[in-house]
Amino acid sequence: MPAEITAPRPLAPSVSGPWLAERLLAWHAQHGRHQLPWQSPRTPYRVWISEIMLQQTQVMTVIPYFERFMQRFPDIEALAAAPLDEVLHLWSGLGYYARARNLHRAAQHICTGHGGQFPQRIDQVEALPGIGRSTAAAILALSAGQRHAILDGNVKRVLCRLHLIEGWPGARLVEQQLWALAETHTPPRQVADYTQAIMDLGATVCTRSRPRCAECPLQSRCAAFANEASARLPTPRPRKTLPVRQTTMLLLCNEDNELLLQRRPPSGVWGGLLSLPEIPHDVCDNDAALHDWCRDRMQCTIVITAHWPPLRHTFSHFHLDITPVIARVIATRPTLMERPDLVWYNHQQHRHGLAAPVSYLINQLYRQQEAPR
Ligand code: SF4
Repeated sequence: MPAEITAPRPLAPSVSGPWLAERLLAWHAQHGRHQLPWQSPRTPYRVWISEIMLQQTQVMTVIPYFERFMQRFPDIEALAAAPLDEVLHLWSGLGYYARARNLHRAAQHICTGHGGQFPQRIDQVEALPGIGRSTAAAILALSAGQRHAILDGNVKRVLCRLHLIEGWPGARLVEQQLWALAETHTPPRQVADYTQAIMDLGATVCTRSRPRCAECPLQSRCAAFANEASARLPTPRPRKTLPVRQTTMLLLCNEDNELLLQRRPPSGVWGGLLSLPEIPHDVCDNDAALHDWCRDRMQCTIVITAHWPPLRHTFSHFHLDITPVIARVIATRPTLMERPDLVWYNHQQHRHGLAAPVSYLINQLYRQQEAPR
């Protein structure tokens, strides 16, 4: 019997002209998301906050954070005037705290440099802390209908598949190619709706895993669909092994059951947040060294009550292996609380942002203490 020959499926016809925008706008009118809290009213301030919260975070997670944030900081002036701690507190759990610090700084910059009005020129928006090219474009396109192309994660995925673009979208040349396509496809009119439409398509139909191609308005010209390549595109980031760092975190309780927390330096990992005091792992390979370190560096005498098993927290660029040590503070020097970076933390009354693993350890400790013996 002759071998069966299967002809390769042809590439789909290329996408050009207004086709993409027309298809997307028609789809969006019927299937797009129109009830998101930042869509009414769609002011630059509300769109800005939502766009920053939505970076690395799902819509359903963002909604309650956005609503609480708006209740507390209804406008740019309110955000600029708030203490950073309160902004970080309302951000607790969203992660990537540099976003909250940048929002706060940008709000102050808008108040001093733009009279409290969100700037309307893209170069001015891009100059604000924490706002890149795509976010600036999204804010002005969505809130003012200005014609700017966006290229967030959702749009990258749609364009990679539609045009069968190989290579990791974060690579410079691939990204340049995607920006050129994004510019070409952005229509001259109805830019706000088009921008929302392409973001919605990426979020709800052309999803990372198992895209719903049968329901997609772009299917007839999608090159990835025609070539059965949608499952492998976009090309994932080349894998690299993350380095591992180690630290010991101290949960130091006083007789009132308060925990000693230390403010981290303003920049870097968890910058500006209160956190548990940390000891470099190599200093702390035995209890005697730990006692000495607390006496010399934290001005307190401790009794160690437990060593917990290590836990791993993964950042984008390294793993952090945390060894928690629980101790009671039995004596302190008077100079301890003169240090501006240290506070006694009462978990009933706290109003501070805490990084996820720090918050986890503190909750574990209090839960254990409250558990019936
Ligand atoms: S047809 Fe499938 S792969 Fe192509 S754009 Fe639509 S959902 Fe994405």
